[in-house]
Amino acid sequence: MSIIAVEGVSKFFGPVAAVDDVSLSIEEGEFFALLGPSGSGKTTLLRMLAGFETPSEGRITIDGQDMAGIAPNRRPVNTVFQSYAVFPHMSVADNIGYGLKLDGMGRAERASRVEEMLALVQLEGLGGRKPDQLSGGQRQRVALARALAKRPRVLLLDEPLSALDAKLREAMRFELASLQHQVGITFVMVTHDQDEALAMATRCAVMERGRLVQLATPSDLYEFPNSRFVADFIGSVNMIEGVLKTDKPDEALIATQHLGDVFIDHAVLGNVGGTLWLALRPEKIEMRPRGDGPPPQMEDAPAGLNTVPGRIDHIAYLGSESVFEVELETGLKMRVIRPNLTRWDQEDFAEEQPVWLSWHACAPAVLAG
Ligand code: ATP
Repeated sequence: MSIIAVEGVSKFFGPVAAVDDVSLSIEEGEFFALLGPSGSGKTTLLRMLAGFETPSEGRITIDGQDMAGIAPNRRPVNTVFQSYAVFPHMSVADNIGYGLKLDGMGRAERASRVEEMLALVQLEGLGGRKPDQLSGGQRQRVALARALAKRPRVLLLDEPLSALDAKLREAMRFELASLQHQVGITFVMVTHDQDEALAMATRCAVMERGRLVQLATPSDLYEFPNSRFVADFIGSVNMIEGVLKTDKPDEALIATQHLGDVFIDHAVLGNVGGTLWLALRPEKIEMRPRGDGPPPQMEDAPAGLNTVPGRIDHIAYLGSESVFEVELETGLKMRVIRPNLTRWDQEDFAEEQPVWLSWHACAPAVLAG
C-alpha cells in the first residue's frame, strides 16, 4: 500500500522550477532515497512532504489524506535535519521527550517512551547527559530518537549523516538501515551521496534539474541506468560513444572508435546507424598481461571482439582493490578496477605494462545518444 503519493508536483521559485512535474509513490515501510546532485530539487521535494513548502502545482497525499493546507505539525511525518538540531541546554532524555511533552503526554508514559527510544538507538544509561557530552554519532542518534519518539507514520531525513566523519558515516549506514527495519516506519531520505543511498535505500529516486529521471532499486540503478546522467552519477563508469551497426532479437553490434565493434548479447532496440553510448563499469572489465601471444578470446563474443590492447598508465592501490587507468591505442583512458583477492594480487601489474582489456557481451549498458 502506498503511504505517500506525489502527483504532478512542481515548485517554482520565480522563474526557477526547483521541482518540475514530479510524480511518484512511496510504499509503506520503505526506506526511500531522494538522490541527486546539488540543486536538483531533492530538498525542496522533501520540504513539501514535511509541509515547509507549498507545491506550486500538483498534489501530495500522505496516509490517504490530501496535504494541501495542512501545517507541518499536523502531518503524520517528522523530520530529522542535516545538522542534528538537538537542544544543547537539555538532557538527552529531555530532548527525546520534548515533542511528547508538547503533545501533553503524561510524565510516566513519557519516561517509559524515552527509555524505549534510548534502547532503540543504543544510548541506554545516557539519558542524563547533555548533548555536548556525547560524540557526533551519539548526538545524531538522539536526534533520530527524538524524531521517532512520536511514532510518526513517516520519518523524513535531510542528509542525516552528512555532519559525521567518513568512518562513522559508514557505521551509521548499517545502524540507520537496521533501525528502520526494526521500527518499520517509512523513511524518506535526501542525500547527494550515491553510496549512502545505495547502501540503505529499498528504492531511490534520482533527480536532475528538478525532474525525476529514474526510480529504481539500488541494483537496478547501478546495472540498468536509463540515461548517461544516471550511469555517470551512480558509481564510476567508462562512457564510450558508438553507432548501432546491427540489431537482432538476441544480439547487437555497436561500432566504436575506441573499442572497435562491440558485441552485445541482447537487442538494443535502437535505430541502426544512430548514435548510442556504452556505459562500461570499471569492475566489469577483465585485464590480462599482454605478451606476444594472440588476444584473449571472450567465450560469449565473436572472434576478436570485446577485447582491446592498452597500456597501464597509472595504478591507485586502495587496499581492498586497485584502480587502473589504462590508455588504449586510440588515446582513450579506461578505468579498470580489480579486487585484491590475495595478498599478492597487486604485484601482477605495473605502470607502463601492456595489457588486454576484455568484457562480457552482457557487461555494457547501452544508452540513448
Ligand atoms: P542541495 O543538495 O545542494 O541541498 P537540492 O537538490 O536539495 O540541493 P534544492 O535545495 O531543492 O536542491 O534546490 C533546487 C533549486 O531551487 C536550486 O536551484 C535552488 O537554488 C532553488 N531554491 C531552493 N530553495 C529556494 C528558495 N527558497 N528561493 C529561491 N530558490 C530556491
